[in-house]
Amino acid sequence: MSNLKLIGPFKQLLPMSGLSLKGAISDSELTVLEVAGILVENEKIRSVGKFDELRNTYSEAEIFHLEGDHVGLPGFVDSHTHICFGGSRANDYAMRNAGKTYLEIAKAGGGIWDTVTQTRKASKEELIKNTVKRANRHLKNGTTTIEVKSGYGLSFDEEVKMLETIKEADTKTAADLVSTCLAAHMLPKDFAGSTEEYLHKISSKLFPILKEKKLTHRIDAFIEESAFSGTQIAPYFKKAKEMDFDITVHADQFSTGGSKVAVEFGAVSADHLEASTQTEIDLLAKSNTIATALPGASLGLGCNFTPARKILDAGGALAIASDHNPGSAPMGDLLTQAAVLGAFEKLSNAEVLAGISFRAAAALRLSDRGKLEEGYLADFCVFHTHNFNEILYNQGNLKPCMVWKNGELVYNKHKTP
Ligand SMILES: [Zn+2]
Repeated sequence: MSNLKLIGPFKQLLPMSGLSLKGAISDSELTVLEVAGILVENEKIRSVGKFDELRNTYSEAEIFHLEGDHVGLPGFVDSHTHICFGGSRANDYAMRNAGKTYLEIAKAGGGIWDTVTQTRKASKEELIKNTVKRANRHLKNGTTTIEVKSGYGLSFDEEVKMLETIKEADTKTAADLVSTCLAAHMLPKDFAGSTEEYLHKISSKLFPILKEKKLTHRIDAFIEESAFSGTQIAPYFKKAKEMDFDITVHADQFSTGGSKVAVEFGAVSADHLEASTQTEIDLLAKSNTIATALPGASLGLGCNFTPARKILDAGGALAIASDHNPGSAPMGDLLTQAAVLGAFEKLSNAEVLAGISFRAAAALRLSDRGKLEEGYLADFCVFHTHNFNEILYNQGNLKPCMVWKNGELVYNKHKTP
């Protein structure tokens, strides 16, 4: 049974079509359709074009009429988050801003290990509830696809628990959750053995279960002086590649090295890159690895942004994600952060919007979203404004008034309390 819906007219509709995956984009390259409509068939887009023409051609379609001026964009894709966690790190944040060092905070019981402890303590139901709550807030703000990492379990059982939690949370929110195994987040304090032994145990024991239970097809690792070295991770990623997992890397956050490993292993994305120099930027630009900026982490830690302008000018593909996590990026507001990154890094609005739509979808290897074109998922957000430039100009303060996911209206400001 086909189910045709025509949504519009949009004062402006930005399909994000015809733009390159890599390199700089000028605003003049953006297609802006005026008095436009989106024709939806079940969960997908059947056609995008002039509202009147679509209405005449598909007279059987149910009309969802937009009153007043609206701008439509593809649903945002947040390709890097850690929204499945227990506890809060508000005290860490206060201590860090009061000048305490990483070591002092860790000694006071803070840091990633604190979140590991709180996450292990939390029941699955509690974690599901909190993950769904966070995902629904992102959905309301226009993000229809959200990547979610494990990495606060850090043992065989606890990582399985986290990934099962994310899988179950996915069934309880209209947003799509894409899970990633980040068992290589840090060496767990309670592991009785070496770093190599831990990574070997995870790759030999946990990886097969991830496949068997279909818990994730993505493996991530934190390559950093305080976490794992490239040499330590190499056999881990080799095993993941052999088992056909997609690889993604926390790279070059404080020291370089991670992006080189990412490119060597053909990672789908290298994320963070705040410390990347021209060498790493050129390496990434020549590769098929998507460079992902995480402005939320720069804002949370009060440090420099990813060199997004340089990455684009070198010809790289730039995605922008929230890194929403309880430690370094507690805000979790993708649109605000992307707008702020744009202002600091001098990115065109086209580059910012590409970074949270089709370029972020590519970082998750999803080719069915991030654009408004025939055959794509009918995932889009609607803003009450006459000019798309108002959206980034308002730096996240202008929120969507409607969000559609898989052809269904999942958020409507005018109707939901
Ligand atoms: Zn992260």
